[in-house]
Amino acid sequence: MARLSLLIDVTKCSGCYNCFLACRDEYYDNDYSPYSAAQPLDGQFWMQIKEVERGGYPKPKVDYIPVPCMHCEQAPCIDVAADGAVYRREDGIVLIDPEKAKGQKAIVSACPYRVIFWNEESQLPQKCTLCAHRLDEGDKQPRCVEACPTGALVFGDLDDPDSEIARLAASRKTETYHPEYEVSPLVKYLGLPKRFIVGEVVRRDVPGECAEGVKVTLEGSGLKLETRSDGYGDFEFDGLEKNTDFLVGIECEGYASMIIEVSTQTDVDLGEIILEPLK
Ligand code: SF4
Ligand code: SF4
Repeated sequence: MARLSLLIDVTKCSGCYNCFLACRDEYYDNDYSPYSAAQPLDGQFWMQIKEVERGGYPKPKVDYIPVPCMHCEQAPCIDVAADGAVYRREDGIVLIDPEKAKGQKAIVSACPYRVIFWNEESQLPQKCTLCAHRLDEGDKQPRCVEACPTGALVFGDLDDPDSEIARLAASRKTETYHPEYEVSPLVKYLGLPKRFIVGEVVRRDVPGECAEGVKVTLEGSGLKLETRSDGYGDFEFDGLEKNTDFLVGIECEGYASMIIEVSTQTDVDLGEIILEPLK
């Protein structure tokens, strides 16, 4: 048995859309039956790139989350399909049979991730196949993974302890995109966007000059982090849990230390933090 899948590192995704374009190039007007029917010209995004904006002016952030079919182990698309039109292979890949699925529009709305698309012309539900037709011919990776210039997409067998994907999954804390759907997706994520806290440190007695190298600490919820303000006096803590209380500490020799209470109900910009010189 195997569990072929993708591990997607959101922190490495630049939103370049190469994966989407490679997918279009592979499937548009190309019929790979019985794996998949040809993709139409418009309206199908087997690899979607979700743009997530966080924070706001003057410290906004944008993250890009690549979202293919998750090849769920408890897939509602399989449950709703008549006549075995959607099925899971022994290697974990979930496929839609283009013959059996004809006319079964209910398959589209069964997917909580909204990654199945309806082909009006051929009356077919369609989605990512992890390039199963290529893998079966001996290719090592799906087209999207080959096309990614940043290494954000890692493909392999989660059950093979020697594979890169299994090693990464064992050494890093992987996450599920929308765990509340409870469908056991095989596709795993690293670095899904969470909350951030940012601020800018300045010294009262040197106005107009950035306070570089100031020690900034963050404590709370079992977490203890430390950073230094950069050349603009800016500091940042990212990847923080939502709705959590933290203490931000500011320490600079010759200045009064500060402790600021912060809650991550939203992303937090502490703005300008003014250090008062010790008398
Ligand atoms: S992500 Fe959607 S289409 Fe893919 S296996 Fe899960 S339920 Fe089915
Ligand atoms: S090719 Fe890679 S970096 Fe570009 S959008 Fe896709 S996953 Fe992100």
